[in-house]
Amino acid sequence: MRRVSTFAEVRELNHGSVGLVPTMGFLHEGHLSLIAAADKEHDHVVVSVFVNPLQFGDARDLDTYPRDIERDAELAGTAGGDVLFVPSLGHMYPEGAATTVDVGSVGDAMEGVHRPGHFSGVATVVAKLFAGVQPDAAYFGQKDAQQLAVVSSIATDLAFPVDVRACPVVREHDGLALSSRNVRVGADDRLAALSLFRGLSTGADAFEAGERSVDAVVAAVLAETHRAGGVDVEYVSVADARSARVADGFEGKQFLAIAAQVGGVRLIDNVSIDVPRGIVDRGTRLTSRSILYERP
Ligand code: AMP
Repeated sequence: MRRVSTFAEVRELNHGSVGLVPTMGFLHEGHLSLIAAADKEHDHVVVSVFVNPLQFGDARDLDTYPRDIERDAELAGTAGGDVLFVPSLGHMYPEGAATTVDVGSVGDAMEGVHRPGHFSGVATVVAKLFAGVQPDAAYFGQKDAQQLAVVSSIATDLAFPVDVRACPVVREHDGLALSSRNVRVGADDRLAALSLFRGLSTGADAFEAGERSVDAVVAAVLAETHRAGGVDVEYVSVADARSARVADGFEGKQFLAIAAQVGGVRLIDNVSIDVPRGIVDRGTRLTSRSILYERP
């Protein structure tokens, strides 16, 4: 796998159809599923690794974000990546760069409330990656359902000729949604963290059993997190998959999302709801321990 640090180098290596997988590194099986999907559908796969300061409101979260570029290079290459794009901060944001992307109402609710400025940071870096890499398609995880809505809006609204592809949530063997931040969840907090997905699952079960009150489904989620204790819930919401508007009824394609702090680590998770069909997509689950915890 080639490693490059400028957009010009990326474009020089591009050939055939190009799939892009944007990440912040410290790769896990969730990222690898996106790389594998891109590899299946494209001649050439570019994986970017950039911990984007613009999307972090919390300086401690940015400072403690796990990083290991050698590990990322090996994993991305094995999964089907051809080029690892690792830009410097100065390359992404040269001195004087002042243009940012305002995503509008798709970024207002949920994450937008609890992480002011987050989606402008995401949108700015994604727009730059689309413009600089010039991929045919870009792969994003449903794990970040509102981000997926934001990114789809960017492609449509700003007329980027990039096909935004969504991939299912990949979970650890115990159900916890994979996140690079999981390595910061201590053993004691892990049990509490598991209540996020348990809660979503309980809510999803209720929906699948015919419950059509959003309040009742949200209450079912909260009952699990309260029972677990040690979970500081920021929101539990049902939202429209495209507009990311919070809904007070079940309709169309939606997602049931939660965000919470557990032991000082902020975790998010969601399940996708297809209301007309009455079914919920909870993602996929690993059968063994994640590579996140493998030590070299
Ligand atoms: P990140 O490195 O956290 O910025 O994530 C990079 C991409 O991987 C985003 O499109 C995420 O939605 C996706 N991703 C992260 N975790 C998962 C997961 N557990 N399952 C599927 N996709 C994921």
